[in-house]
Amino acid sequence: QKFVYDFTEGNKDLKDLLGGKGANLAEMTNLGLPVPPGFTITTEACKVYLDSGEEPPALRDEVSAHLDALERKMGKRLGQADDPLLVSVRSGAKFSMPGMMDTVLNIGLSDESVHGLAAQSGDERFAWDSYRRLIQMFGDTVLGMDGEVFSEALDQAKSLKGASSDIELDAADMQMLAEKFKHLVLKETGRDFPQDPREQMDLAVKAVFDSWNGDRAKLYRRQERIPQDLGTAVNVCSMVFGNLGPDSGTGVAFTRDPATGQQGVYGDYLQNAQGEDVVAGIRNTVQLAELEQLDKPSYDQLMQIMETLETHYRDLCDIEFTIERGKLWMLQTRVGKRTAAAAFRIATQLVDQGLIDEAEALQRVNGNQLAQLMFPRFDSDGGVRDADEIGWGIAASPGAAVGKAVFDSYTAIKWSRSGEKVILIRRETNPDDLDGMLAAEGILTSRGGKTSHAAVVARGMGKTCVCGAEELEVDTKRRCLKTPGGKVIEEGDVVSIDGSTGRVYAGEVPVVPSPVVEYFEGRMHAGADDADELVKAVHRIMAYADRVRRLRVRANADNAEDAARARRFGAQGIGLCRTEHMFLGERRSLVERLILADTEEEREEALEGLLPLQEGDFIELFESMDGLPVTVRLLDPPLHEFLPDITELSVRVALAESRKDANENDLRLLQAVHRLHEQNPMLGLRGVRLGLVVPGLFTMQVRAIAEAAAERKSAGGDPRAEIMIPLVGTVQELEIVREEAEAVIAEVEERHSVELNLTLGTMIELPRAALTAYQIAECADFFSFGTNDLTQTVWAFSRDDVEASFFTAYLEKGIFGVSPFETIDKDGVGELVRHAVEKGRATRPDLKLGVCGEHGGDPESVHFFHEVGLDYVSCSPFRIPVARLEAGRAAA
Ligand code: PEP
Ligand code: MG
Repeated sequence: QKFVYDFTEGNKDLKDLLGGKGANLAEMTNLGLPVPPGFTITTEACKVYLDSGEEPPALRDEVSAHLDALERKMGKRLGQADDPLLVSVRSGAKFSMPGMMDTVLNIGLSDESVHGLAAQSGDERFAWDSYRRLIQMFGDTVLGMDGEVFSEALDQAKSLKGASSDIELDAADMQMLAEKFKHLVLKETGRDFPQDPREQMDLAVKAVFDSWNGDRAKLYRRQERIPQDLGTAVNVCSMVFGNLGPDSGTGVAFTRDPATGQQGVYGDYLQNAQGEDVVAGIRNTVQLAELEQLDKPSYDQLMQIMETLETHYRDLCDIEFTIERGKLWMLQTRVGKRTAAAAFRIATQLVDQGLIDEAEALQRVNGNQLAQLMFPRFDSDGGVRDADEIGWGIAASPGAAVGKAVFDSYTAIKWSRSGEKVILIRRETNPDDLDGMLAAEGILTSRGGKTSHAAVVARGMGKTCVCGAEELEVDTKRRCLKTPGGKVIEEGDVVSIDGSTGRVYAGEVPVVPSPVVEYFEGRMHAGADDADELVKAVHRIMAYADRVRRLRVRANADNAEDAARARRFGAQGIGLCRTEHMFLGERRSLVERLILADTEEEREEALEGLLPLQEGDFIELFESMDGLPVTVRLLDPPLHEFLPDITELSVRVALAESRKDANENDLRLLQAVHRLHEQNPMLGLRGVRLGLVVPGLFTMQVRAIAEAAAERKSAGGDPRAEIMIPLVGTVQELEIVREEAEAVIAEVEERHSVELNLTLGTMIELPRAALTAYQIAECADFFSFGTNDLTQTVWAFSRDDVEASFFTAYLEKGIFGVSPFETIDKDGVGELVRHAVEKGRATRPDLKLGVCGEHGGDPESVHFFHEVGLDYVSCSPFRIPVARLEAGRAAA
C-alpha cells in the first residue's frame, strides 16, 4: 500500500485518498499550472493512525523518499542552515470543513536556519517574523498550548513600542518575540521548541491527523452528515511567501460571482501579506481588479489560469493564490460553493459556452435549491440594506417573516386570533409550544442548532425559523429581547427574520414575492427581453427536466383553486383528492346526521343531502383538470373527526342534566360518540372499513363522481376520473367495494347513455397490502402508494405525534439524518414499495403505479420512485416544480 503521493502522481478524482485539497493540487500540477512542489500523505495513513494510535510503519520511509525528491527538486534541504527549504503542513479531508482542522506554516525554521532565510531573502524582519509565526502556530496546534499566551506577548510588544499594528514592529522586535515565544513553549509544555526540522514536520503531521477527532470537527461532521471515519489527508507543500514586500501578496478569487452567478471574475487581494492575514482581516483587501494596476503580468497570468481551470473543471472554481516577488503561485482550487440562484444561472451559462450538455446542467442544480428560490424574501434592493440588523442565528427553515414579537405561545395564539401577525421568540421551544408555533408567522430561538425542536418542527410546518441566535438574550420573564448592543425589543415591537440567511432585524423589512413563483404562476414571462436572468435560467432548466423525465407529476388537490394552481405549475393531473376535506365546515352536520341515523330513512335522507354537494365539488374539479386524470379517494379519516369532542360533550350533557334540561339530541350524540370512541383511531374505523360498515356512504360518493363525469361529458368536457379506495389491507375488501361501485357506474352510464371509462384502484398504505400486492392487483386498475400511512404502520410511529416528541432526540443521536416522514426510508418502507411494484405488475402488467404521500414531492424520494419504476408522483401544488425537476434529474 502506498501512503504518500507526489503532487505529480495524483489527480482530481482521488479525493477519497488525497482529500479535496490534495487531489486538486495534483490536478493543477498536472495541468502545468504553477503549484509549489509537494506531496500528500493519504487518508489511509490517517485511518491507520486513528485506529491503532500508531502511524503505519512504512510511512516514515515513504515520507523520507518524497522529502528527498522534493529537496532535490528545490535544490535545498528542509531547514538547511544557509538556505532553508520551508514547508507548510495542511489538512485536507474529502469534504471541506472550514476552520475545523489544523495547519502549520514555515516548518524548517530554527535558531540556525532563520539566519539563512534572512540572508537569502535579504530581509531580517521577514525571517524573524516567519520564525515567530512558526513557534506560535506550532505551540498552538501541535503542542496544544493556549493561543492566548502568544497573542498577549504580541500585544505587550506592541504596547511597549507604542505600535498599533504588527507592521510597526521591526526585525529586532520580531527576534525578541521569537525568543519570548520559545520561552513560553518551554514554560508551558516543559520541553524546548524542536530545532530538528524533520521532527517539526513529523509532529505537525501527527497533529493534523489528531485534529480529525477534535470536538468541533466531530460536531461539524455530525451536523453536515459527513461520515466520521473518513480521516484527513495531509499536504506537505514547499512554502512561498506573499509577505516579501510590495511586489508580493496573496488573494482569493472566484471564476464567477458565487452569489448571483454573474459572469466575470471576483476576488480580493492583499499586498505584502500571507494567507492568514486575509482571513484575520488585519488590513483591508482590495478588489482583484486592482491587481491589474499593481502587477499586470501576474494579473494576466491569473486570468488565464482561471479560464483554464473553468474550462477544465467545467464549473465555477474558487482559488487561493500567492505572488512572491512577482511570481504567481497557485495554492488551492476547488469547485466552488454557490447560492441557489447562482447554481441555476451558472448551469445555463455553461451550456451556452458549450462546456456541459443539458443532462449535465440538470445535475448542477437540485430541487432543494429550487424550493429555496420559491420562498418570498426580503427586498434586497433597499429593503434589507437599510434594515436594522440586530443579530443572526442558524438559517433553520427558509422564508421571510415579519410580525410583532411575542415571548410565549399563549400570547402568540391570542394575538394571532385577533388578526395580528406575530413572531414567536423563545430561548428554545418544546412540545408545549406547538400551537404557538402554528399561530406564528415565524419562530426565533436563541439556543439550539439545525436539529433542535424549533428547527425540526418549523421545517415540518413550512414556517420560517431562525434558531440558535446566541448573542440575543431572550428574557421570557420581562418579555423582551436584548441585543449585545444594548437594544431592547419589547413584546409587541415588530421584528423581521430571514430563515434563508439567519438574519434578524428590528422593525418591518419589506417582503417581495419570489420571481420564480411569479414565473410559475404565469405573471412573469421568461421570454420577455427584460426578464430576470434567474427566471430565464429556471425556465430553461425546467424545460430540460420535462423533456427527459419519465415520471409524470400530479398534484394533491381537493378544490378547484388548488387544482388550477397545480395546473399552472405543470401538474399532469390530480393524484389525490382527499374527499374528507369536502365534508368539513357547514357540511359537517350532514355527516353527523349520517352517523347518527337510526333508521334506513334517516340515513337515506342524509346521503341525499350530501350527494348534490359532492357532485358539485367534482364537476368543478373535473373542469379545472379537463383532459387530465383526477384520482378521487373515497372518504378516509376516522369518523370521530366529524363528531364533537367527547370530553366537551360529556361536560355539556352533565351540566344540562344537573339543571334537568338535557336535550334528547345531545344525549343521542353522546351515546354515539361513546360508541364510536377508539383508543387508537388511526388503526380504527377509517378508510375502506368505513365504507364497508356505513351503508351507502361509498356508493353515494361513487354516484357523485359518475354523475359529475357524465355531466362534464355532456357539456363537451373530457373528464378522466379514477376512483381510489383507501386503507385496503386485503383483496376481499376491495372486491366488495368494486362490485357495488360497478353497479352504480353502470346504472349512471345507462341512464345518461355515455361511457365514462372510470377506473378503480387502491391505495397501498398498509404493510399487508404491500405484501399481498399480487392478490390485490387482481382487483385494482391502479395502485397509489400512501407512504404517509405506510411509514406510520411500518415503523409504528404515530405520524401526528412523533415529530414533536422524540424525533429531535433521534435526529441528534443520528438514528436517522432526516425524518422518514419527509424522505422515504428506502431500506424499510421502500422495500415494501419495491415488492408491491414487482408483485402488482406480475399479476397485471398494465397496472398504473403512483405515490401520493408527502414523499411524492421530496427530492431524494422522487429519485427512489423513479428507480423502482412508478408511473407518477403526486404532491402538493407548491412542490410540483421541485418534483418535475427531480424527476428530470433522476432520468438524465
Ligand atoms: C398517505 O397515507 O400517504 C396518504 C396520502 O393518505 P393520507 O395522508 O390522507 O392519510
Ligand atoms: Mg393515508
